[in-house]
Amino acid sequence: MAKYITLPKELEAIDGHLHIHKLYEEERQMNFIGGYEWYKERNNFRGISIASLPRKASNNMAVALYKVANPNTYAHGCIVYPHSPVDVSKIGDMDPLTQYKEMMEIGFDGIKMLEGKPEVYKKNWIPLDSDFYEPFFSQIEKDGTHILAHINDPESFWDGDKVSDEHKAKGWYYGDGTYLPSEDMYKQIDNLLAKHPLLNITLAHFYFCSGKPQKLIDIFEKYKNVNVDVTPGGEMFVDFANNPEYYKEFFNKYYDRIEFGTDGDFPRCVEAMDWLVDRIYRYFATDETFMAFEDTLTTGIKLPYEKVKRIFSYNFVERVGKTPRPINKEALAKYIDKYKHLITDKEDYDLITSLAKKLL
Ligand SMILES: [Zn+2]
Repeated sequence: MAKYITLPKELEAIDGHLHIHKLYEEERQMNFIGGYEWYKERNNFRGISIASLPRKASNNMAVALYKVANPNTYAHGCIVYPHSPVDVSKIGDMDPLTQYKEMMEIGFDGIKMLEGKPEVYKKNWIPLDSDFYEPFFSQIEKDGTHILAHINDPESFWDGDKVSDEHKAKGWYYGDGTYLPSEDMYKQIDNLLAKHPLLNITLAHFYFCSGKPQKLIDIFEKYKNVNVDVTPGGEMFVDFANNPEYYKEFFNKYYDRIEFGTDGDFPRCVEAMDWLVDRIYRYFATDETFMAFEDTLTTGIKLPYEKVKRIFSYNFVERVGKTPRPINKEALAKYIDKYKHLITDKEDYDLITSLAKKLL
């Protein structure tokens, strides 16, 4: 038996949730262009989608340039903040709506929002249901543009006794009173959806609701355009494994609201990504018992093939688009000119500007 399952080609799978974390990989001495093509091929993906990270202004540029070099790539762009905490009165022509329009003109397929992740939220402390974002969400709802949003984090991250040392080291312990409580963030999203009930939005990482799935069911029943992805967070697969009958029924019923993704990063260990694909596929498509996240013995729920295909392919296509949008090179060049002064890392700056010269 091969070590890891290779996805069947006819599944036409799409990894809907990938990132470019660093623009250059020392070990293999390669830059990010082409960074996922090997991954796509060896796992038989029909497509991949890269979501920008708001940490650096260079990320939108990198993701868009990736798309120029590899047109069969979907991409989600993110809002860039000129300074943090952001001074709303000095935002000028970098308000969320203007940036959204710029990204659509460039040819992004959707918007990635990490603003609801507690450590990111803390930097700006601007409620997602506030006036600051209102024109942006109104326009997105009207256009039906897809949003991939990371909201909150696992509940244990607020609990000093439960959060792991590994997560603490990453700065993901939120119980010291300086972070927004998770319930308050959920309330912001409740308000946002009430105001914009047609938002085409995928809440990443199962909306961190694997311990409280009724919350998700309520949202699914109320808002027809809300999906979740099952990008790990291992804790969610531990909850699935520990409640096998419940989740078998859940996924049989809500299979059309679930999207596949791995949260893979460039550069990242090839083996780790293949492992993720294998374990997620095994869970949904087989009835095998295997060791999965956090060394939990997990039994697959073996959904009917058509439902597996929805999760691994069609649900993403339905929300984002049949094929990736092409990049408008002129618009991208204009964007790089406008925002390149925000790139703080000199190597990133040099790489982006030289690739732009070559590819645009
Ligand atoms: Zn992610």
